[in-house]
Amino acid sequence: MKTLGLLGGMSWESTVTYYQIINETVKQELGGLHSAKILLHSVDFAEIEAYQASGEWDKSASLLSRAAQNLERAGADYIVICTNTMHKVAPQIQAGLSIPIIHIADAAADALESAGVTAAALLGTKYTMTQDFYKSRLTDRGIRVLIPDESDIETVNRVIYDELCLGIISPASREAFVKIIEKLMRQGAQGVILGCTEIGLLIRPADSPLPVFDTTILHAKKAALLAVR
Ligand code: GLU
Repeated sequence: MKTLGLLGGMSWESTVTYYQIINETVKQELGGLHSAKILLHSVDFAEIEAYQASGEWDKSASLLSRAAQNLERAGADYIVICTNTMHKVAPQIQAGLSIPIIHIADAAADALESAGVTAAALLGTKYTMTQDFYKSRLTDRGIRVLIPDESDIETVNRVIYDELCLGIISPASREAFVKIIEKLMRQGAQGVILGCTEIGLLIRPADSPLPVFDTTILHAKKAALLAVR
């Protein structure tokens, strides 16, 4: 079995889900007492968020790059960055490694492709929804990406940082997200990408008017399968 090197803590609320899903998948695949070989470097998210807010992506890139290199030295065979947003600096992190990063947007694109979804709504942080580092990975695979309007982008972003990353799950925010998904469905979306690793804590498949593509689950499963196959 290969060893997965997780860059977590962004936020730790969703790293818990990664740990659980990776272990559950390994158990399903190998049975018995098998569990995943995992190395975890969990950061202080306040530092990362401060660099995001001030636009100092190079500082977060070197912090995460050092952490990933330590994971490689400690024996990791793959790096898993447990956040969509910080894939913005995935190229810089990859440049310092000789092991591959399992890209979260590729895990989403794989699932959308197998479901035959060619137009997908994307919910995530404002960085993920508005910048190109993530969306281009999907459009390169022929998937049209629909994002919310400006005020809905603000709502989704606020709920992620002020609620979900703090472990707050609010029914009012769930309702707001469902309305936003409905709007994007009317614009032609055939599925919704939960493109932030905490959104799955708020929106379950049964809550959503569209089929849900939860990047935390898809990414964690892909990583676990690569580790055992
Ligand atoms: N976990 C979130 C994501 O998947 C947001 C936290 C972050 O900014 O890294 O994008």
